[in-house]
Amino acid sequence: METEIPKLHMFFFPFMAKGHIIPIVDIAKLFVARGVKITAITTQADAPFFSKANQRINNSATQIDIKIIKFPSKEVGLPEGCENVDAITNSARFNFDLVIKFFQAAALLQEPLEDLLEKYKPDCLVADMFFPWATDAAAKFGIPRLVFHGTGFFSLCTMSSMRLYEPHKKVSSDSEEFVVPNLPDEIKLSRKQIPESMRDGESFVGKLFKAMGASELKSYGVVVNSFYELEPAYAEHFRKVLGRRAWHIGPVSLCNRSLEDLSSRGKQASLDEQECLKWLNSKEPNSVVYVCFGSVANFSSAQLMEIALGLEASGQSFIWVVRKDKNDEEEEEDWLPVGFEKKMEGRGLIIRGWAPQLLILDHEAVGGFVTHCGWNSTLEGVSAGVPMVAWPVSADQFYNEKLITQVLKIGVSVGIQQSTMLFGDYIKKEAVEKAVRALFTSDEAKEMRSRAKALGEMAKKAVEEGGSSYSDLSALVEGLMSLRHH
Ligand code: UDP
Repeated sequence: METEIPKLHMFFFPFMAKGHIIPIVDIAKLFVARGVKITAITTQADAPFFSKANQRINNSATQIDIKIIKFPSKEVGLPEGCENVDAITNSARFNFDLVIKFFQAAALLQEPLEDLLEKYKPDCLVADMFFPWATDAAAKFGIPRLVFHGTGFFSLCTMSSMRLYEPHKKVSSDSEEFVVPNLPDEIKLSRKQIPESMRDGESFVGKLFKAMGASELKSYGVVVNSFYELEPAYAEHFRKVLGRRAWHIGPVSLCNRSLEDLSSRGKQASLDEQECLKWLNSKEPNSVVYVCFGSVANFSSAQLMEIALGLEASGQSFIWVVRKDKNDEEEEEDWLPVGFEKKMEGRGLIIRGWAPQLLILDHEAVGGFVTHCGWNSTLEGVSAGVPMVAWPVSADQFYNEKLITQVLKIGVSVGIQQSTMLFGDYIKKEAVEKAVRALFTSDEAKEMRSRAKALGEMAKKAVEEGGSSYSDLSALVEGLMSLRHH
């Protein structure tokens, strides 16, 4: 007998930044695979993320329905066409006022969202954490709202404790360490390492984060891109101690299985995937370090130079992603030592632009990952079973660093002390070399690698039928179905 396909209808409303929209597209695909009808509410600039996913969904009846709303850039004084956070952070004219304007523009989306909610009356709205008003918007039409934070249980718990107990207000200097109270482990941070949203509750971002916290408490619950076995104590803490309703359904990146899915996730890669695979195939297993700092962080030329020299001194083969375009008119670029690429030929591959990150991490030649600890990258490193060098820049990345190095013990810290918006604290080549060597040749390297490999196996099991994330996704779909019937 054929089982009845649940005709649940969900709205997905992602924030306009790659680190948010990429996992949302994966989550949408996971729900589609469970027979749920998905409508994506998105802007003109971000619509291709979903239309590309549709090209890979064979059955036209189950494709993601895309509804485009206009991003009001001009209305808040942003340049025309500035519809994605990257457009600001990648700009040479970056300043924080533009970020504030971007959030002001995002808040103007409440009205068009409400129009769509009223018209289509979905069973549920999954909206990004940066839309705190979405819970009330959905409630107007009796629609439950799920929050998508884009981070894991460990950092959700850490942030909650910080907000509840404010330990950063009880130290006398920015560099003095404090223990984050009431967590399953003893986690120490300094005021320098926490983002401004936490340091100053009265700043624009501080107020935004407070509103996000309040709207989360009123929402139906939280969808978490993580898996239980990765951070069981924190998954329990979030639910039982902090009292949140949450479903862990990750690692969502593991829904990408074909070569095409792996190589063009997010954006078309800047190099041919076959060329990349050929390069990796020529290397020994676990011999290459992959270096990438996500889609937002934007390092100075001086910092990139130190990374180049540190990678050279480490003696390791490497793939290094730099968010710069090759300027054909210039023979050498000011962020690379003269003749560096020629000298590193065969040993080092520099990708300017966008890398096929999943394809690279999954290759057996890759044995280490230097990461900015963005949650997607962290979880992708975990899923691939590779040990990591933690190089946090901002936001939740310092919390994720603690998870990697202290709780899971699958990585080492490069030694960043200061959270900055996106340019990063300055690290010398010696520290880069030391951290990379620690992943491959230190006394602890073998144990770190075997712990990382074990977690990678657990990640894959979690999303298979019967696994913890697979089952939690089923529970979420069933819960929403029964909510509809009531
Ligand atoms: N990513 C990629 N290629 C790149 C840079 C990033 O595929 O060259 C992907 C990466 O796999 C991850 C996302 O972009 O899924 C970045 O998200 P993350 O949370 O790690 O960092 P953010 O960009 O938000 O700082």
